[in-house]
Amino acid sequence: MLLALMGVVLAGCASNGPRTASFQGPPNIVIIFADDMGYGDLGCYGQTGWRTPNLDRLASEGARLTNFYVAQAVCSASRAGLLTGCYPNRIGLAGALGPGSRVGIAAGEKTIAEMCRDRGYATAIFGKWHLGDAPEMLPTRHGFDEWFGLPYSNDMWPLHPDLVKLPAESEQRKRGYPALPLYENERIVDAEVTAEDQATLTKRYTEHACDFIARNAERPFFLYVPHSMPHVPLFVSGEFAGRSGAGLYGDVIEEIDWSVGRIVEELERRGLRERTLVIFASDNGPWLSYGDHAGTTGGLREGKGTSWEGGVRVPFIVNWPGHVASGKTIDAPAMTIDVLPTLASATGAARGHTNMDMGVDGVDLWPLLTSGDETATESRALAFYYNANDLEAVRRGRWKLVLPHSYRTLAGRAGSGGAPGPYKQVKSGLELYDLVADPHETRDLAADRPEIVEAMSRDVEEFRRDLGDNLTKRVGEHRREPGRVEEKR
Ligand code: MG
Repeated sequence: MLLALMGVVLAGCASNGPRTASFQGPPNIVIIFADDMGYGDLGCYGQTGWRTPNLDRLASEGARLTNFYVAQAVCSASRAGLLTGCYPNRIGLAGALGPGSRVGIAAGEKTIAEMCRDRGYATAIFGKWHLGDAPEMLPTRHGFDEWFGLPYSNDMWPLHPDLVKLPAESEQRKRGYPALPLYENERIVDAEVTAEDQATLTKRYTEHACDFIARNAERPFFLYVPHSMPHVPLFVSGEFAGRSGAGLYGDVIEEIDWSVGRIVEELERRGLRERTLVIFASDNGPWLSYGDHAGTTGGLREGKGTSWEGGVRVPFIVNWPGHVASGKTIDAPAMTIDVLPTLASATGAARGHTNMDMGVDGVDLWPLLTSGDETATESRALAFYYNANDLEAVRRGRWKLVLPHSYRTLAGRAGSGGAPGPYKQVKSGLELYDLVADPHETRDLAADRPEIVEAMSRDVEEFRRDLGDNLTKRVGEHRREPGRVEEKR
């Protein structure tokens, strides 16, 4: 308690300091997190089909990472990794939690929001939570003072693309998803989100974000904006419909880019730009079965739901004028689980205020992001790619060892117009890729480089002991339990 109060006092002093590029106090933090946006969806990552000037500017005036990974290539697991600094299976979370889920983040884990709140920050989430919709699992119970948004994905409603093609009277459709609720804090403010409502989400999240910035201009804040878009079903406001000239998906990305520009503009208007660290990323790669309603991986292999690069590698832009290296492209591997330790460093959070005492998997990227010098600092040595608790691949430096596993790939044509095409399951072998020479994972070098396969297999064995692996029936010595809903709901 005393430490928490000291945090308030220290943070309060800092916010009255001079507004210069060398602002030294704990920064405001803004994390904008897109849903299912691909590695190749932004201009600064090679996209030419639509325009993302605001994100491109954020990247050109900050740092852009080219080898940045989510913890797992699916919504809930990915968010659990971002907010706790842990591999999601470390804390017992996997997949995409549906309505009525009986798990969430354990009360004992400390999220980025709790870390910031302990430091005297105002905290808010405007967007999709997706880490449990039971009352005790909502964002307001995990460090966020304020919330406006959806409890889970926007396709978890009666009009799910897989259900909507069935007759309305069919049993399968009736057993499908309940009405989609919209929350303000712990109160449902719209019990049945409609298509018209979905079209307003990006704009309303943005309005809430700007209002929060305006209300908290005099104290440090943590603002988390996990957009519902561009997850299917795609929706865009009237102002952006048809604007990209590249179809609905392009329109949706241009509206998200507008939202980023609006938030940055609000920071500038309040004189907060120099004291605010802004991060932009996506929770996983594109949902390729949706064809023209999915994003692009920029040539990376496969997409959402797989541990190939197209599933787990996402854009990552970080910007804090005067602190984060400006105009840098950083190729060192990094992950969403590194964000929490990095922000602990950037905000000067004491260890007791973070999840780090519990044991996190993330590493502190702050020296790398501030210097931009990949040789001057130790970066992430190993990245493990799990699907639930199946260990599917590991990266060390330029090398990625793919472990034998089954994964989904398109069975023929992708869908279109919002309807998905079919997937089929196929199997990988034990495969080795040089991600520097071959980022698209086309040439398996396992037979040519047995010494690298052997060395990385030792890394894998060690990690299986620590975190387990269902594919080889390991339990893992250091897994923690998720939060569980005790009462029947
Ligand atoms: Mg997602």
